[in-house]
Amino acid sequence: MSFNLRKKRAAAAARAAGVDALLVAHLPDVRWLCGFTGSSAVLVLPSSSLKASRPTARAVLFTDGRYIAQAQAEAVGTRVVIATKSPLAEACEWIASQRVRRCGFDAEQTTVAALDAMRKALPAKRRRSLFVALGPLVARLRQIKDADEIAKMRAAAALGCRLFERILAFMQPGMPESAVAAQLEHTARLAGADGMSFDTIVASGPRSALPHGRATSARLPRRGFVTLDFGVLLDGYCSDMTRTVHMGRATAQERVAYDAVLDAQQAGIAAVRAGAIVGNVDEAARSVLRRAGLDQWFTHSTGHGVGLEIHEDPRLAAKRMERLETGMIVTIEPGVYMPGSFGVRIEDTVLVTRTGCDILTSSPKAWIEL
Ligand code: ZN
Ligand code: ZN
Repeated sequence: MSFNLRKKRAAAAARAAGVDALLVAHLPDVRWLCGFTGSSAVLVLPSSSLKASRPTARAVLFTDGRYIAQAQAEAVGTRVVIATKSPLAEACEWIASQRVRRCGFDAEQTTVAALDAMRKALPAKRRRSLFVALGPLVARLRQIKDADEIAKMRAAAALGCRLFERILAFMQPGMPESAVAAQLEHTARLAGADGMSFDTIVASGPRSALPHGRATSARLPRRGFVTLDFGVLLDGYCSDMTRTVHMGRATAQERVAYDAVLDAQQAGIAAVRAGAIVGNVDEAARSVLRRAGLDQWFTHSTGHGVGLEIHEDPRLAAKRMERLETGMIVTIEPGVYMPGSFGVRIEDTVLVTRTGCDILTSSPKAWIEL
């Protein structure tokens, strides 16, 4: 989908929400709408109630002096204004100077301080009425990935899988978790990743019971689980996958837990299709662990959307009623965590299709013993 089409769809959503412009300050939204990847940007998107022939009908990107060349190269088709004070303040002044009566902003992404600054940039008589708090209109559009985004997400996921398969040969008992993370991240950068999509999780031995155990100086055990949860950023898009491997011989209890998590993960994947209610996908995974008597140790939701950001909507959580749609990309990642003892999580990123899903993270999930 072209940036123009994305802008059109966002403008239509703004119009439906009853505003004649949208102030977009969340950087992933700005990037999705106009292609600009810099760290300082506010995009003002007039909705088409302002006639196309008027200059205001074009989106305007406000950034700062560091980004003159980059903004012109990346935000093709968008007017670029280099702000001399803050891009946010200048965007608001510009909005006030146009025939905008009501301008929407994303309440979920706007701090109290930012809203205060936005209002202070307006003439006093417009401060009360101009800005209208809305939901995440652009993020909602971003949930459905277009062909170009799907290709990028596939490439990111495939790189993640290659990294996983290579790191297995590197892992040795006694090695610090941080060495595993460093090797994985080094290899990712050499393979073209822009960086990691979140802090790499390497949680070994009893630390595998920490769902978000970042790599520390703890050493890989002779016998015990190691959970690897990591993602690359490639072309702006995140990958996300988790595999849990075992060092040395496992106990019967560890094997039972692993098999139950794998069954739950596969049941979650089997429940994914366009039209499925996200709470039901969560329940499909959770009920497997319930039958195995392990659900009390599954302490988080089953998955989340992923794209330009590592955590996007929809959340695949208990009782949530949103429906999956074709083109959404979500994770399925049940786990069990026995405090002080061990934990297991298995996570794939999948593309929702009309009849089911396409697993983007194709690395094997069968038991791996190192
Ligand atoms: Zn993950
Ligand atoms: Zn995840």
